Amino acid sequence: MGRKVLVLNQDYSALSICSVPKAFLLVFLEKAELVAESEQFTLRTVSAEFPMPSVIRLHRYVSLPYKGVMLTRQNIFKRDGHHCQYCGTSDDLTLDHVLPKSRGGKTSWDNLATACKRCNSRKGDYTPEEANMKLRQKPFKPTFLVFLREFSGSIEQSWMPFLSKKEKAFQ
Ligand SMILES: [Zn+2]
Repeated sequence: MGRKVLVLNQDYSALSICSVPKAFLLVFLEKAELVAESEQFTLRTVSAEFPMPSVIRLHRYVSLPYKGVMLTRQNIFKRDGHHCQYCGTSDDLTLDHVLPKSRGGKTSWDNLATACKRCNSRKGDYTPEEANMKLRQKPFKPTFLVFLREFSGSIEQSWMPFLSKKEKAFQ
């Protein structure tokens, strides 16, 4: 499995993650500096030993509009663990507007829930309260941290101090 490196912007805010070879290249080209290295691993070549990067920081500030986690059908299913949020089945899934669209409900992270077709049609144009159907969890927008976990499979301890800022900003 490819290990991942946390890339910090020039102001030390978390920007993205990249592969170890990419991180080496950025440091080698003097576009970035090593901020933290992995304690468990070193890279060995015939003649030398290098610390394995864990966190690097770019020398120049990169201004990126934050795109966040994309609001897609698949990402909603993923957030909800591919289970209907009313009955728990994982068959025949679709998206439910918690507050129905016909009543002004938005197409947004906090108004969309995974629902099976059966529950979805049973709920119809009602709110969960009116239909007497209880949501298993309140829909929410995944945070940057959740996104990182999805993408890299794990979050390293050395990343934690740098993630808090971004986390707060995009709650
Ligand atoms: Zn259901």
